[in-house]
Amino acid sequence: MFLKNCERCGKAYTSSSSRICPDCIDQDEVDFRKVRDFVKGNPKMSIDDISEATEVDKARILDFLKMGRLELVDITNPPLECERCGKPISMGQYCNICKQDIADTFRSSSPSSETPSMKKKSFKERYRGE
Ligand SMILES: [Zn+2]
Ligand SMILES: [Zn+2]
Repeated sequence: MFLKNCERCGKAYTSSSSRICPDCIDQDEVDFRKVRDFVKGNPKMSIDDISEATEVDKARILDFLKMGRLELVDITNPPLECERCGKPISMGQYCNICKQDIADTFRSSSPSSETPSMKKKSFKERYRGE
């Protein structure tokens, strides 16, 4: 067990995994439910509106989005940026294109017997495209 200071409230606590203390984790849970319920009924709200209506910090809402716990559908100004190409995204860390790219890189760099079938598939796709 390590004694750490909570990144959010600064309180000392013992934990081996989380960066915030149990109190803040509880608070996060409460905040998350509030935001999630609000977004469910108001899917087109901006982060500012959600923050104002739920009294949950904007940074917290962005955290929920980054973690992929919360998704904003139909949002006109996606609040997050893809960490790879900088494209505006509404949830997670990467846009769909980069996610695909990363998955491909990961797959091709790991030695596996699946490579031949991958090649066949991409050949077929190329063939169809021409
Ligand atoms: Zn705390
Ligand atoms: Zn991207």
